[in-house]
Amino acid sequence: MAELVQRYLDQICAEHSGLHDGELAGYIPELATVNPDGFGLTLSASDGYVYESGDTAVEFTIQSISKPFTYALAIDQIGEAAVDARIGVEPSGEAFNEISVDNVTKTPKNPMINAGAIAAVSLVPGADPDERFARIHDFYSACAGRRLDIDQDVYTSEKSTGNRNRAIAYMLTSFGVLQGDPDEVLDVYFRQCSIKVTSTDLARMATTLARGGFNPVTGQRVTDAPVVRRTLSVMVTCGMYEAAGDWVSAVGMPAKSGVGGGIAAVLPGQLGIGVYSPRLDAKGHSVRGVQVCRSLSARLGLHFLTVSRESSSALRAVYDSGPGIRVYEIQGDLLFTGAEQVLRTASRDCQDFDVAILEATGVDEIDDAARAMLTGMRASLAGAGKETYLVDPDGRVVSTDRGGDYDGTVFRTLDEAISAARQLI
Ligand code: GLN
Repeated sequence: MAELVQRYLDQICAEHSGLHDGELAGYIPELATVNPDGFGLTLSASDGYVYESGDTAVEFTIQSISKPFTYALAIDQIGEAAVDARIGVEPSGEAFNEISVDNVTKTPKNPMINAGAIAAVSLVPGADPDERFARIHDFYSACAGRRLDIDQDVYTSEKSTGNRNRAIAYMLTSFGVLQGDPDEVLDVYFRQCSIKVTSTDLARMATTLARGGFNPVTGQRVTDAPVVRRTLSVMVTCGMYEAAGDWVSAVGMPAKSGVGGGIAAVLPGQLGIGVYSPRLDAKGHSVRGVQVCRSLSARLGLHFLTVSRESSSALRAVYDSGPGIRVYEIQGDLLFTGAEQVLRTASRDCQDFDVAILEATGVDEIDDAARAMLTGMRASLAGAGKETYLVDPDGRVVSTDRGGDYDGTVFRTLDEAISAARQLI
């Protein structure tokens, strides 16, 4: 199995190895000195197992792939509302370095373009630039699962030539978006862009997002699921700048590119991808990186809007266990749609039984909406004069300490529930 996936990656790399279109990012002089042919591809499974092909140990600067992570950190630290007051979430359709704000709000249109990213840096708490950068540095490192370093040469190079970003920062200061000294904020922004990663680091960072803020390799919860949901949202709509629509249509994964040649892509709940190839197109995306992601998505069916799973998979089996006793076996990860289906099936058929047994031993994860639906099933069937028993030994639906207000009977095994049902009838 592992070799099969490895072969896929090697094959996709081989297919694109002859692609030499694009230019190095010469506007940051130091970036024009890298080997233009470097090419690495890493895919990380949701448990952190990685498949690597090509130059996956070559370090390059993270550049704009830093943006979603600093945005996530800002939300994690000061909350969504405070961040929303300073940075919008609308795609700008403009280049990443556009000197612009939203016409009405006078705030950056989104956190993926430089204006929004510089604003996001300013929202990360810290008494001085060093403390603020240390927070950012720690956060990226926790997402990657190893201590990342900074490329001093790229930092110095961008800092000495970054007048466009200076223009953006001073404009933001004039609109009251940036507080304090804009040069201090810029210094942190240039440092964060100069953090060195490999394609494998990017894949791991992407996987931490895919896992809702949990790094499966270190076991550390780096941030919370709502923070990640918001971050992935802006990656979908704005991560690839003015190519976002084409990217979502063709690749279908929240992603972010950087002028260092990297792309990180996230398939929520499933995997993370990191690609490195430094020749860029006119919009600042790795030419080969984009093509590789398109191929991977098509070949492995990774588009996040692929409609593949039927909600009926929540119900593993429905059968009668003696007269008047119907068993509903539910399984897997339960969300609203799965629980709704269980509830509707039971209500529709309730004239056929006296006791419904909800067998929940096979449930893995269940969210609050699904839990509310399933614990509400007893009350809703009671209206029709029917009883509901729950088999839930691990407390997935009703926690074993009975934290909620479920007043029905919870059994540890299906046999116990069936004998209780027989006695009742
Ligand atoms: N440091 C770069 C800049 O601000 C990042 C841009 C990018 O990667 N798209 O210009």
